[in-house]
Amino acid sequence: MIAVPTPRGLSLRISVTDRCQLRCRYCMPPEGIPLCGREAILTYEDIVALVVCLRDEFGLAKVRITGGEPLVRPGIERLIGRLTDLGIPDLALTTNGLRLAELAPVLKQAGLRRVNVSLDSLSPETFRRLTGGGDLQAVQAGIVAALDAGLRPVKLNAVLIRGINDAEADHLLDFAIDHDCELRFIELMPIGPGARLLPDGFLSSDAVRRRLGAHFTLTPIASETGSSARRYGVVNTEGNRGAVGFISSCSAPFCAECSRLRVTADGRLIGCLARDGGIPIRGMLRAGDAKAIGRSTRQVLKGKTADRNFEQRMAMASIGG
Ligand code: SAM
Ligand code: SF4
Repeated sequence: MIAVPTPRGLSLRISVTDRCQLRCRYCMPPEGIPLCGREAILTYEDIVALVVCLRDEFGLAKVRITGGEPLVRPGIERLIGRLTDLGIPDLALTTNGLRLAELAPVLKQAGLRRVNVSLDSLSPETFRRLTGGGDLQAVQAGIVAALDAGLRPVKLNAVLIRGINDAEADHLLDFAIDHDCELRFIELMPIGPGARLLPDGFLSSDAVRRRLGAHFTLTPIASETGSSARRYGVVNTEGNRGAVGFISSCSAPFCAECSRLRVTADGRLIGCLARDGGIPIRGMLRAGDAKAIGRSTRQVLKGKTADRNFEQRMAMASIGG
């Protein structure tokens, strides 16, 4: 195993809830997942304490709020306001977009910089089936509201599954170009119910790029610092320009450059999405034990390796995607 050197510009993904209104086929089983109880879920105070520790000791550069669905947690704008006050340079949020039309202005006002919105299909029927009842129109309205509120860049995340929505790659990219959003294709990962869709449903980034090549010109462009996406500038048949990214967690893992930590909704600090385990830090946070948090963080960072096997038993909605 190759140990990954301790990264400088650390990035933290915080799952603020394991709840979600949707049941995306690759993420949540139809019956949902066992939810953590009220006392187990990290409070906003716990989260702020964690961010302060990581900022002061490790130079935390980026925080992403995720879930479950982060916009179902009451008062999420209060947390964003408090994290903004801590001066984290890059504060972003990943959402299914269902509540974005209503919340985008409030989130912007609280200090949120930008959002990623999951959008796997532009067919209302396929969208409903894939997400377990999602309303495509509401998500599209959320994307427009985020753009109007200035939560830019708005990035759209799409997971393509062979035989379900893979024929929509071109359409999704045209939609992104038309709406001034950057689209990112995320490879389906064998985590949670996603595992049952592999291998038949899997489509590699290379396969998607080849398909897009028939209708778009793709030119490699620089990746953003710390980003897991390989990016391309694109021009469509009408000459309109945009950008597309590919997150190839399975076919071309980026573990050697990964500087991410994750914390689950119930306060487990995790170094790798693919591997089980992590360190429970909720008690340390509540005891105000910054030294123990620092020690745990170093331990998790030391455990990050450049070779990864998917052995994660938690659902993506628990880990925070
Ligand atoms: N609910 C929010 C959303 O859907 O954007 C945030 C949480 S969700 C777990 C974060 C991301 O994880 C989504 O973009 C989703 O597509 C992705 N995801 C979930 N399960 C996945 C899987 N098995 N393979 C690849 N991506 C997955
Ligand atoms: Fe919910 Fe996001 Fe998982 Fe879909 S991907 S079930 S929206 S947490």
